[in-house]
Amino acid sequence: MAQELEIIDFRSDTVTRPTAEMRAAMMSAEVGDDVYGEDPSVLALEARGADMFGKEAALFCPSGTMCNQIAIRISTRPQDEVICDSKSHIYLYEGGGIAAQSLASVALVEGNRGRLSARQIEEAIRPDDLHYPRTSLVSLENTSNKGGGSCYELSEIRNIRQVCDRHGLRLHLDGARIFNALVARQENASVHGALFDTLSVCLSKGLGAPVGSLLLGSAADIKFARRVRKMMGGGMRQAGFLAAAGLYALDHHITRLAEDHRRAQTLAAVLKSRSWLSELLPVETNLIVFRPDPAWKSDQQLLAALREQGILASGFGSGYVRIALHLDISEGMMERTCEVLSRL
Ligand SMILES: *Cc1c(COP(=O)(O)O)cnc(C)c1O
Repeated sequence: MAQELEIIDFRSDTVTRPTAEMRAAMMSAEVGDDVYGEDPSVLALEARGADMFGKEAALFCPSGTMCNQIAIRISTRPQDEVICDSKSHIYLYEGGGIAAQSLASVALVEGNRGRLSARQIEEAIRPDDLHYPRTSLVSLENTSNKGGGSCYELSEIRNIRQVCDRHGLRLHLDGARIFNALVARQENASVHGALFDTLSVCLSKGLGAPVGSLLLGSAADIKFARRVRKMMGGGMRQAGFLAAAGLYALDHHITRLAEDHRRAQTLAAVLKSRSWLSELLPVETNLIVFRPDPAWKSDQQLLAALREQGILASGFGSGYVRIALHLDISEGMMERTCEVLSRL
């Protein structure tokens, strides 16, 4: 780098740092020992999350991965099978947790930008035959990360719920970015909540909290989930400092996601004007996934060229690059990024 450039970090919507107001909320949090059920801020966050999605109970966990893996653990028995998209986070990015934590198998389905259809799910259900694993759980991801932030149609989720009901399957949502979907589609959290047995919701992605996710479900499911969380080492003590950040995020950082979505459209428009753009997934929320023409630059060469200008993005495999919009991107950063991209 020739001179000191302000780094513009589009690698992930997890890179945000707490705002001054969020830090103030954290510093003034009332806390207690949450393993004893005595942290008022954690209890308030769990009640708030459950209420938003119309579920009976919630469990505050250190990560979305832990929420997902607990949900799978409480929804399956060894030898069972989970139906999910072949590029879903629960399968691809959670360290083989389904096999290690739940002794379960996976039926991988090739979805449409990470989204499964009710028909595909029905086809993936195993017959009741001792040769096969027993299908017991379907897991959806909304928005889909590998799908470039794609959103499910609510009508399709309803169809999937019907398939699950018909076959006695449980339905989980990996809702790491569910608020992006709700804001983009102007849909209601409790409508989605009613369609799933369990949902995991990240506070540390677009919502900008430093740490934490919520697992939502019935009182009985969350009671079981709490035991599993303890076993996994996820029982935290004065976690109210973190829960306060989550509460602040739910109060102040949901509606502003529309700004991230608008900015994603702005950057996508610049990308579309470039002759070297070979493919761009439809931009529905805060993620932009695209592929430069490898005859011009490979993904790695493009990432290096951007890095030289102080702009960070992520390699997304198979020549693709991902840009994630988030809370810590300023208008000035947007202007500089548009300028750099249009000079490439
Ligand atoms: C980030 C993410 C998670 C959970 O990630 P953690 O880093 O464990 O909080 C789960 N699913 C999807 C789709 C994600 O993008």
